[in-house]
Amino acid sequence: MKTKEDCIFCKISSGDIPSKFVWSNEDVIAFHDMNPQAPVHVLLVPRHHSDNILDLAAEEEGRQVFSQLLAAVPRVADALGVSESGFRLIINTGKGGGQSVMHLHIHLVAGEGLSESIV
Ligand code: 5GP
Ligand code: ZN
Repeated sequence: MKTKEDCIFCKISSGDIPSKFVWSNEDVIAFHDMNPQAPVHVLLVPRHHSDNILDLAAEEEGRQVFSQLLAAVPRVADALGVSESGFRLIINTGKGGGQSVMHLHIHLVAGEGLSESIV
């Protein structure tokens, strides 16, 4: 598993920055976004470091890491109680995509007001 020394999400994953996880296993962590944009706003983060989804797609272990993320989605949705009511997943990529933390992550957002967003 690849990690990056000066990466904030790698530090959260390793425990260097203590954080409360909504859910975690050996491959993926999920925690509340510190600047929530919706009533529920959680980040799903692979422990493996890739700068973004393009980098992950180019890596040999990319598919495996993405399957681990996929497997985490229902677990995290259950933990948050939004499996029935529904939610939205977002992956920002690069500057034009609004990515600010260069460690691939999925935003899971849910709650009132989502219908007003652009997609
Ligand atoms: P991006 O803009 O890269 O798609 O999303 C990065 C997200 O990470 C932002 O929504 C930001 O609020 C969140 N974030 C950045 N640093 C931290 C942190 O140290 N802890 C938590 N919980 N969220 C963070
Ligand atoms: Zn990282």
